[in-house]
This record gives sequence, structure tokens and C-alpha cells, in this order.
Amino acid sequence: MEPKCSICGSPAVAYEHTIRAHLCGTHFTEFVERRVSRTVEKYKMLRGVKRLVVAVSGGKDSVTLLRIMHKLYGEHLELLGVTIDLGISGYSGGCVEAAVRNFEALGVEYRVVRLGDYGFSIDDVNLLNRRRVLRRPVCSVCGMVKRYMINKVALELGADAVATGHNLNDLLLFSLMDIMSASFSELSKLRPKTPTSGKLISRVRPLIFLTDKHTLLYALLNNVPFNPADCPYAPQRGIRVDLLRALDKVEEGNPGFKLALALGMLKLAGKLHVPEAQEGIGECKLCGMPTGSPGLCSFCKLRSQVLRAREVVAPEGQGSSA
Ligand code: SF4
Ligand code: ZN
Ligand code: ZN
Repeated sequence: MEPKCSICGSPAVAYEHTIRAHLCGTHFTEFVERRVSRTVEKYKMLRGVKRLVVAVSGGKDSVTLLRIMHKLYGEHLELLGVTIDLGISGYSGGCVEAAVRNFEALGVEYRVVRLGDYGFSIDDVNLLNRRRVLRRPVCSVCGMVKRYMINKVALELGADAVATGHNLNDLLLFSLMDIMSASFSELSKLRPKTPTSGKLISRVRPLIFLTDKHTLLYALLNNVPFNPADCPYAPQRGIRVDLLRALDKVEEGNPGFKLALALGMLKLAGKLHVPEAQEGIGECKLCGMPTGSPGLCSFCKLRSQVLRAREVVAPEGQGSSA
């Protein structure tokens, strides 16, 4: 017999083991939204926030975030959407399109910012790595680029905070990798909310207690358009992929494990001393954005590296001109 919703008796679409209940579409949607609102309240994510930028990549997590923030807080907050065109061929176009469809469907004012306006793309970073003129893992470059561009546009828009779609898996992965590499200063920054500090705008992560299965089902049930494609640079194997599989395996036999581990990680991060990085934060000599080191910020350093490297490398298939 088909399982029935434990609340209303309608056909169930999911079993939510953390509340030991089968849920129909309506009650699953309510469950997800309640979990977000409780996370927002628990960590006082919106205290003092009047203008909130929602960073939307176009994937299932960020579009779900936008939909829920709009539904729960759209009347009390000025919501603004931002999406970045990273210049990844065969992928970025679909991401931007999905993000824009959501902004327009909800009537949310938005900005599309393009990495190409800075003279390069994530495809360029990949190509230069392949040609061995750059040795920077694409995803770590991409992460830094996204943080920089989102913060910059949030600052320009006068936002009080930026909401991002990081979910439970992201939180667990970041924290386990930080522990593995003994990056305790990074781990100490693992907060559901980081405050504004000078030109660094506050970050909030309302989805950190939801998995990607939750966001996928929410998006499907609520007809939220998203780009289902995977980024061509997403790692297909390696420690991160194995870790995620292992976490899911443990969760299968021990429902609630991932949530408990996340809460433990956040407690641990909260107990760690936050290095006074902010104190030492200066401004980039080129763009004026915050930087922890003297001179140029990481983005401007990378940009000049990429632009210089590109001068000595001809387009793929034509060989090097150097
Ligand atoms: Fe960027 Fe890597 Fe994510 Fe692709 S998989 S969007 S390159 S961080
Ligand atoms: Zn129900
Ligand atoms: Zn800079």
C-alpha cells in the first residue's frame, strides 16, 4: 500500500525521518519552510536587515532559497536578487536563465553580473590550468570569484546582508575538510551568520539544515524552475565525492546523523577563537575591496595572473604563441 501522509492521510511524497513522518506535497513544503524559518530565527539571521540580497546560481538550492525567502519574508524585507555569469560554456547560460526566470516570476528586482566584464571567465582559468600556465584548482578560484563578486554587488546595492543557498552537505563537507587540513581558523568562520565588517557584508545561510534532497523535492513540488545540469568542472571523484557518499551511507543506517553532526560542527566552530582577521583587513589598492593581505585582494591578483597568462597562450588548438 502507498504510504499516506502522517498528518492529513493524503498520498505521501517523502518520508522525513527527522520527524518520523510520511509527508504529502503540502506538508513536505510546510516542513521545509518551517525548518528555514526556525533556522533564520535561531541564528537571528535577519535582525537589523532591511535590504537582503539573495545570491542565486540557478541551481536547485538557491532557487528554493529565493522562493522561500520571498514567501516568508518578502513583505517585510526589500529582497534583491543577484546572479553571476561565470562564463562556463554549456552551463552558465542555463544557470543565468533559470535565475532570471525566478526573479521575474516573483517580481524581485535583480542584477546579472558577468565575470566577462572583468576580462576573463572560469573557462579561461580551466584552459590555463590545462596548459600548465596556471596552477589553481578551478573550483577554489570559482568560489573566491563568487564571494568577491557577490560581496561587491551587495555593497553597491546597499544591502544589509547576503543570503546564500549553502545546504547541510556543504556545511559538513567544508567543516570536515577544514578539520582534515587543520584549518581551524577557517572552521571558526563556519557560522550560519557572519556579521558585516567594514566592506564585508553579512552572510546568512538559511538552508544549512536542509539536504539537497529536500531542496530538489521542494523545487519540483512547487514548480520552481532551476538548471538541472551539473557544472562540467564539478569533481566526479576524489575525497569530497567519497565523503559525501560516506555521509549518506551513515545517514541511511542512522537517520538524523548528518543533522546531529552539523550541529556538533557548529558548536565546535563557535568555541574556536575567531582570528582577528577583520582587524587586519585593509583595502585592495586596485579595487578598494577588503583584503586580508597588503596590496591587492585575491580577486585582483588572480585577474592580473589570468590576463598575463592569457597573453602567452593562444586559443586551444592553435598552440602556444610563447
Ligand atoms: Fe564553480 Fe566548481 Fe561549482 Fe563549477 S563546480 S560552479 S567551477 S565551484
Ligand atoms: Zn499531508
Ligand atoms: Zn581588488
